[in-house]
Amino acid sequence: MKITCYECGREQKEAAYQCECGGMLEISHDFTGLDLEQLERTFRERLSERMTPYASGVWRYKELIHPELPDRYIVTKYEGNTGLYSADPIRRFLGIRQLWLKAQSENPSGSFKDNGMTVALSHGRSLGYRRFSCASTGNTSASLAMYAALAECESVVLVPSERVSANKVLQTLAYGARMVRFDGTYDDGIRFYERHGDELGLYICNSINPFRIEGQKSIVYELAQSLNWTLPDWIVIPGGALSNVTALGKGLNDLLRLGMIDRLPKVALVQAEGASPFHKMMAGAGEELVPESSPSTVASAMNIGNPPSWRKARDFLKASGGVTCSVTDEEILAAKRQIDGCGIGCEPASASTVAGVRKLIAERTIDKEETVACILTGNLLKDTDSLGMYADKKVGGSLEGSVGELTAEAVLERLGSPA
Ligand SMILES: *Cc1c(COP(=O)(O)O)cnc(C)c1O
Ligand SMILES: [Zn+2]
Repeated sequence: MKITCYECGREQKEAAYQCECGGMLEISHDFTGLDLEQLERTFRERLSERMTPYASGVWRYKELIHPELPDRYIVTKYEGNTGLYSADPIRRFLGIRQLWLKAQSENPSGSFKDNGMTVALSHGRSLGYRRFSCASTGNTSASLAMYAALAECESVVLVPSERVSANKVLQTLAYGARMVRFDGTYDDGIRFYERHGDELGLYICNSINPFRIEGQKSIVYELAQSLNWTLPDWIVIPGGALSNVTALGKGLNDLLRLGMIDRLPKVALVQAEGASPFHKMMAGAGEELVPESSPSTVASAMNIGNPPSWRKARDFLKASGGVTCSVTDEEILAAKRQIDGCGIGCEPASASTVAGVRKLIAERTIDKEETVACILTGNLLKDTDSLGMYADKKVGGSLEGSVGELTAEAVLERLGSPA
C-alpha cells in the first residue's frame, strides 16, 4: 500500500490526511500476485462467515481495501451486506427495462458512511489513536460516534448549528460523542480541521481521510458480486462532498484492472439544485470548481457548497464518460414518495438518484432499454423533517370514534374491498 498526494504525487506518512501542498491523498495497492479465481472464491466463501471481521460487507474485500491491517484492529458492525432490490413500482414509474436499488440505508448507523468509517477508525486504532473526530452534516458523525463507542474510544464531532437533521444529532449524542456546534457550514468545519487538526491531536475521519474512500469502494464490489460480477449500464449516485462517487470510480477501476469486470458502466452523479457547484462546473465545461457560500437543499446530507473531492470526481467522470445532473427539492421529495411507498424507503439525499434517472431519461441521456442501479445512501428514519409531508395524509382517511364502536362495515367503507 502506498499513500501519495493526488496533486503533486509526493509519498505520504500513514497518519497523514493532507499533503503539505494542500492536495488530497490517495491510496494505491499493488494487486500483482492476486489470483482472480482465488479472489472470487474467497469473496464467495466469506458470505457464510459469522461474527468474524470477514462477515462484514466491507472486510469481505480486505485484499482490495486494506490488506496490511492486522485483524485485531478491525472495528466492525458487519456493515455493508445491504439489500439489492429490483423495485418494480419504480421501474414502471420510470418506464425502464431494469432498475436496481442498492440500499446502503440498511447499514448499522443508517447510512453508507459506515462502509468507509469502519476502515478509517480501524486504521486510526492501528496507529495508536484513541480520539476520533470529524466535521459532518450528520451521518458521518453518527457513524464515527458509533464505531468509536464500539471500540471504547472517544469521538469529538463538529456539527453546523443549522440545516442539520435533529435525528442525526441526537443519534450521535446517543453513542456518546462530544459535540461542538458552530455557526457556519460543513465546509467551514473542514477548513477548521485543515488548520488545527494536528495541534488538537485528533485522528480525523472526514472524507479527506483516504481510508474512508477505500472502505466505500466496497459498495460497488458488493453490487458487482450480487450480480455475479456483471454491472448494469448505469450506476447513479448522489453527491455532496463527492467522496462516494470518488470511491465508486476507484472501486470500478479496481474491478476493471483485476479483470473482474470487462467494461466500466457509465456513472451519473446527481446533486441538489441548491447545492450543485460540481454539476455547474461539469455542465459549464469549467476546469475549476466555484464554491457556493450558502448552499440550500432539503437533502441535508448533500448541503455542501465546497466539496473536497471535486478533482478526483471530475477526473473519473471525464475519463469514464460519466455525466452529472441536478434536481430540485420538489423532484427529490416526489422521488422519495415513490421509494418510501414501495417499502424500501430512504432519506431525501438518496431519493435524488431516482429523480436524476427520471431527468436523464427525459433528456435522452439514459435510454429506456438500458439497465440502471441507484445507490440509496441513507435511511428513511434519519430525517424526520422530511417525513412531515406524510403527517396529514392518513391512508384511507381517518376513522373517528372509539374502538368499541368501530364496525367492519365502517372500515370497509373507507378502505374499499381488498384487491
Ligand atoms: C454523505 C451523504 C451523501 C453524500 O455523499 P458524499 O460522499 O458527501 O458525496 C448522500 N447521501 C447521504 C444519506 C449521505 O449521508
Ligand atoms: Zn501534494
